[in-house]
Amino acid sequence: MSDASSTSLYVVATPIGNLEDLGPRAARLLGEVAVIAAEDTRHTGRLLRHLGLSVPMLSLHEHNEAARVEQLDARLAAGESIALVSDAGTPLISDPGFLLVRELRARGRRIVPVPGACALVAALSAAGLPTDRFTFQGFLPAKGAGRRARLEALAGREETLVFYESPHRIRDTLADLATVLGERRLVLARELTKTFETFLDGSAVELLDRMEADPDQARGEFVAMVAGAPPREEDEASVVEGKALLVALLAEGVGVKQAASVAARVLGGTKKSWYARAQALKDQG
Ligand code: SAM
Repeated sequence: MSDASSTSLYVVATPIGNLEDLGPRAARLLGEVAVIAAEDTRHTGRLLRHLGLSVPMLSLHEHNEAARVEQLDARLAAGESIALVSDAGTPLISDPGFLLVRELRARGRRIVPVPGACALVAALSAAGLPTDRFTFQGFLPAKGAGRRARLEALAGREETLVFYESPHRIRDTLADLATVLGERRLVLARELTKTFETFLDGSAVELLDRMEADPDQARGEFVAMVAGAPPREEDEASVVEGKALLVALLAEGVGVKQAASVAARVLGGTKKSWYARAQALKDQG
């Protein structure tokens, strides 16, 4: 759909450090809308000055978001387009905007994403950890007990785990990662797209040692990415159970690939091993 067709709420990603990461479409739309709803108008004011733009702004943050919905809906109804931005990266990703987008979408308003920087995607794209499946957890709970409980609940997950973290808590979080997840491989992306961008790779204890030796490594903004748990071993009982499940599925006419995928989902283990078993059962007739 073209940008010009109707009044819209544009959800515009802004840079996470390097201002060159703001694309031409985002820059054009920021200049064309009637108003920009910004997490912090002073912060966005600096970006607008850099772009040579002067556009009216409204603050939209967690304390006034609910109240802003009616106001912004009325402006859309009056034929004005709006841009939603946060301080950095993609709005709604650990940032305000969810309530506004949910409510306006429910009212049938046109909501248009204008993609760009997002710290978690930038971090994953360069970390060298598996990206075929990952779980983004935003910020972990601030208090130690809550944080460890959340990590314990995630300990068995086989996909890459991704967290946002601030410099105030990075050491405590690494200590809890060491306690709960042990020697797992961790990649810490720091200050992405900025002058001191760094990727640190190692166990949580090794990264804590690096910070001890060089306290600058604990400064700035972080995305922490943790390797998933090793695939669960299949015990004998689940193999027997799985075979019965595969026989039943194959008898129903379900394909080998799909049957393997169901068994892996229900009983754990790899799709590959269930595929081999399903194929063998099919070959046996
Ligand atoms: N909406 C943003 C996005 O799309 O990534 C995230 C906003 S959240 C309030 C801020 C957190 O994102 C920081 O505490 C940090 O964990 C992460 N972050 C943002 N910019 C970053 C950067 N340049 N390098 C590393 N992490 C960053």
